[in-house]
Amino acid sequence: MKFYKDHYDVIVIGGALAGLSSALMLADKGKDVLVLERHNLPGGIASSFVRGGIEIEAALHEMMSIGDKDNRLKVGKFFDDMGVDIEWLKVPEAYHASLPGIEVTLHPGLETFAKEIDAAVPGTYDKVLRLLNLCNSVFDSVNELSIHPMSKAKMLMKHEAFVKTAGYNTQEVIDSFDLPKKAQDLLAPYWIYVGSSFADLPFTIYSVLMADYVGYGSYIPRKFSHEMSLKMAERAEAMGVQIEYRQHVEKILVKDGKAYGVRTARGDEIHADYVISSSYPNKVYTSMIEPADAVPADAIKMVNGRRISLTAFSVIMILDDTAEALGIRDYSVFRGDTMDTEALYEDLAGLGPYRYLTCICHNLGNDTATPPGTCSYSITTLPRVDGWKTVEAEDYDRIKHQVAAQMIDDMSAYLGVNLRDHILEIVIETPMTVNRYTNAWNGCIYGYAHTMEDHIIARLQTAEHESFIRHLEFSGAHAISGDGMGPAVTNGRKAAKNVLDTMAAEEASK
Ligand SMILES: Cc1cc2nc3c(=O)[nH]c(=O)nc-3n(C[C@H](O)[C@H](O)[C@H](O)COP(=O)(O)OP(=O)(O)OC[C@H]3O[C@@H](n4cnc5c(N)ncnc54)[C@H](O)[C@@H]3O)c2cc1C
Repeated sequence: MKFYKDHYDVIVIGGALAGLSSALMLADKGKDVLVLERHNLPGGIASSFVRGGIEIEAALHEMMSIGDKDNRLKVGKFFDDMGVDIEWLKVPEAYHASLPGIEVTLHPGLETFAKEIDAAVPGTYDKVLRLLNLCNSVFDSVNELSIHPMSKAKMLMKHEAFVKTAGYNTQEVIDSFDLPKKAQDLLAPYWIYVGSSFADLPFTIYSVLMADYVGYGSYIPRKFSHEMSLKMAERAEAMGVQIEYRQHVEKILVKDGKAYGVRTARGDEIHADYVISSSYPNKVYTSMIEPADAVPADAIKMVNGRRISLTAFSVIMILDDTAEALGIRDYSVFRGDTMDTEALYEDLAGLGPYRYLTCICHNLGNDTATPPGTCSYSITTLPRVDGWKTVEAEDYDRIKHQVAAQMIDDMSAYLGVNLRDHILEIVIETPMTVNRYTNAWNGCIYGYAHTMEDHIIARLQTAEHESFIRHLEFSGAHAISGDGMGPAVTNGRKAAKNVLDTMAAEEASK
């Protein structure tokens, strides 16, 4: 029996959130799709693992763009439309901010959030609400414009707030509201999810982050992030997609400037009209294209010109008592010794001790996260890849344990309980772990950083000129939307749409 067909419409490299989103959308349009995944499971980072008989979330703190059942946002709607049935749980709070002089818990809903900031910094309600409403208006524009591009003149009329703020960085716009520092600090904790300091972060990106997470709240699947990838894979197979695991794609085959198939590590050469890659463009253009001289010089310039975003360092523990008994009150805590995002961004280039942590207690968002009488606590920081690239093999263990110890001690001090006395299971994930399990470039989790020079709007405008090899698309955190699991789904859909549009255009020109 032959393992592969002679030909597919599309081969997707990587069976994680982005790749599976591409596959679902293409299968929904009747295309013949093969997904090749190097791991023995779907999901990439969207995964879980078992220690001591307990299933543990590998990564997810919170999903954006899901929305309530009767008011779905784009990612939640995509899952519904594709028949991927996830049990979504709404995260109870936006976050607890633990910063110098600040211990404040904020909840989702623009007005609620503004009221709670006002309670901590009296007299700020109107200004904070105006800022959040501005974010919301920019968010609505981004959502509409990404589906219906329009002329500049029309844009000015219909999307004034978006056009007015598009050239400004986040710090400039926040400064224009003349808010006390404490209120500014309370509006900043999510910054780490995008990996640029406020002085280098387009206000548009900040707006999307705040309007989505604060306006609509965030969600987690009851059965961890693996529920998304497992159910997506199951659904894709039911729709006719062939998924093969433990198949590492080594080469993308190119002829006359056009991709026509792949070669796996096992030596199979498989042909298709299109290839969608979850592997980073850096990897594809530097080592995966066959023949190597089919890589245009501009492709190398493009990957060298982009800044690789953040990686992750995470300490995940199963503790021997309930959250309540251990004094853990919030699902999500952001803790730092400053909220100066430029200083923190510099700090993330090193190897710790890190000054800014993001922590979750899964049980406070999901009452079935661990067996009764235990809870799961995860302490994470998102360092830049720069520092970790320099770690020598002989120093790795020492540095890993040093960083983890500092993070545990810091959160023990915050909670007033020595976490070390309560650890049943502990797993330390480093940038090397991410790299090993997902093959991501330098262990990066967020693709390319959104900066003032390179962000979603600029990328949408230049995308056409960055299609260096015909019939090759990219689908992953490294594509246009960047940053996280929700955007990975959006990127996967966009890659599929590009393929469908090209197919239609080529058919029409025949
Ligand atoms: C600790 C941690 C916490 C996080 N928290 C959040 C969070 O709270 N919210 C959020 O939105 N995001 C979070 N993220 C980021 C998020 O997980 C990623 O941005 C997202 O999952 C990326 O999805 P992806 O599909 O692009 O790629 P990946 O998950 O990296 O998957 C790539 C897939 O492609 C496969 N692959 C790669 N190369 C090949 C090849 N050559 N051949 C075959 N297969 C290949 C890999 O095996 C993998 O399955 C977190 C990440 C980490 C590590």
